[in-house]
Amino acid sequence: MTRDCNRLKFLSAFFFFPIRSFLARLGIRYDISSIANAYYQEDFDRIPAGEKAVVLPHCLIGEECKARFSKAEGILCMKCKNCRCGEIRILCEEKGWQFYISPSTNFTKRLVQRKQIRAAVGGACDFEIDKGVRSTPITLKGVRLKKKKVIPQVILTTRYDCLHNDIDWDLLKRIILKGARGAVEWSGGRCAEP
Ligand code: SF4
Repeated sequence: MTRDCNRLKFLSAFFFFPIRSFLARLGIRYDISSIANAYYQEDFDRIPAGEKAVVLPHCLIGEECKARFSKAEGILCMKCKNCRCGEIRILCEEKGWQFYISPSTNFTKRLVQRKQIRAAVGGACDFEIDKGVRSTPITLKGVRLKKKKVIPQVILTTRYDCLHNDIDWDLLKRIILKGARGAVEWSGGRCAEP
């Protein structure tokens, strides 16, 4: 029943997405990432740890970050404690997840092609989510990135800022430790409008 409810919400949210500005003027607003997270959570949790990844955007790294950049792996966090990315990297290593910090959305798409990633949790601002929904095929089986489908969980960053951003780190840790179901409970996902 919950799965059917989440599926209905998911389909409605993406169907009405092109007219969301009009709906907002009527007082109807919804968070598309929470709805998508709720729908994908069971599939996300079924993917083995080794094929799951945390892919963080570069806007979350510390100002004094000395990490090198690799064309293949992105920003190579050294776990220096100048920001919380290092803590997440350590947790990923403990739990057998992959961990990346990506400089751009296009880099993330290429990363997914190269690596064995079937599910990914990442952070994104409203602007990137909006752009992603418009430009990327999003299906009931996952987000299609060229030849691959990835089951996503998205955590909204606290602001639209490419340099100094933040995220709900506790929520991210909870997803790694307890699975994606925790993320939906945290965001209060229930069967309601649209
Ligand atoms: S913890 Fe990692 S990402 Fe953060 S500042 Fe240090 S090296 Fe850079």
